[in-house]
Amino acid sequence: TATKSIKEGKAEICLTTEKVFYNPVQEFNRDLSIAVLTIFTNEYKAEQLAKAEKRGKTQNTTEGIEETQTNNEVDISILEALSATGLRSIRYAKEVPNVTKIVANDLSKQAVETIQANIVHNQVENLIETSHDDACMVMYKHKHPMKRFAAIDLDPYGCPSVFLDSAVQSVQDGGLLLITATDMAVLAGNAPETCYSKYGAISLKTKCCHEVALRIMLQCIESHANRYSRYIVPLLSISADFYIRVFVKVYTGAIHCKKTTSKLSMAYHCTGCDNITLQPLGGFKPNPTEKNPTQTKAYLPAAPPVGEFCTNCNQRHHLGGPLWSAPIHDEAFVTRVLNHVENNPELFGTAKRIAGVLAMVREELLDIPLYHSMDRLCGRVHLETMPMLVMRSALLNAGYKVSYSHASRMSIKTRAPAHVVWDIIRTW
Ligand code: SAM
Repeated sequence: TATKSIKEGKAEICLTTEKVFYNPVQEFNRDLSIAVLTIFTNEYKAEQLAKAEKRGKTQNTTEGIEETQTNNEVDISILEALSATGLRSIRYAKEVPNVTKIVANDLSKQAVETIQANIVHNQVENLIETSHDDACMVMYKHKHPMKRFAAIDLDPYGCPSVFLDSAVQSVQDGGLLLITATDMAVLAGNAPETCYSKYGAISLKTKCCHEVALRIMLQCIESHANRYSRYIVPLLSISADFYIRVFVKVYTGAIHCKKTTSKLSMAYHCTGCDNITLQPLGGFKPNPTEKNPTQTKAYLPAAPPVGEFCTNCNQRHHLGGPLWSAPIHDEAFVTRVLNHVENNPELFGTAKRIAGVLAMVREELLDIPLYHSMDRLCGRVHLETMPMLVMRSALLNAGYKVSYSHASRMSIKTRAPAHVVWDIIRTW
């Protein structure tokens, strides 16, 4: 068979069979992951060294030794659980700093043979080891705290949910999960029942379905993590092309898991005007019985504030969710990734696109989940689509913050109540 050679980043892979999966369109996904991992591994290393130094100091104090000795080596291992050609792992080995080991796993024998050959071709035998196993099995074998990975990349065909139980257990405290989902029809509202069975949430057929998809994915990871007294902190959540990709840190802490209900909401979706009203599953208030006044207490809301009918157009609501309704990005982290890409554009084939997407992500109003869509709003009242600039200025003039979402060109994120948005359209 003819060998196909593919160059991407610092890697060159050879494919001798069509049976091993390679998708050139995913270069953006791989570039973005390398940019995120670069910043993550730098920070993870610094955190681990600081922890080690603290431990060392305590030990030395108890032993009465003045000098603190820290070993500058931090174990940073990455698992690519569904590796196909090995391209991603090879790029991680050559392009991400601080990495001490990568495991490239695939269930397909042909894929593992291809990975092996590509490791040799790229001379990264010192960093990557192959594994021929079911992804879940590899992760379960690494769930002991001493064996966990600093980062786990899940890039399956379709839905990643079957891998989540093992993934949330086998990543280090403060470690990173990088997860792709490509079953957008399910997540974006074409099969809400299937979405419930796979992700534990009902998807909605709405104009902001891509952000709904991200929020369903995040609540799904959180719910798996909570089972093991762990919780997630999203760093970056992206909708692109035909897939979504989320980057979340995982931490351990049973107390924090009590806060999960306050990060989730049910979504009431109006079948008439497409407006969505969120109803939080829980909340937080100061706990007067706590000695520390900053401590808060979780509570469950007393009564559902959202009714059967929409207050704007009197049509029925569909119920969706639960959705993750806390921030989906960490703005400071996104800024650090963006700066890295802007300062080193030669490192990424898709640098321009990454910079464009991250610049939009950074502008997103983090405390406002979901968005209106200009074309849908105007379409509902049979009007020509109003220019975005007009709507944005009107909202700003009325005293409301407004932003785009990276997920749609027509998006309007605002805290303005729906009736204010409708008033602006009516008076246009
Ligand atoms: N991450 C790759 C990249 O960036 O090029 C692409 C991965 S491809 C979409 C999915 C891979 O998962 C296929 O090679 C398939 O053989 C493998 N796979 C499917 N089910 C698996 C399982 N349960 N465990 C491990 N690998 C699996």
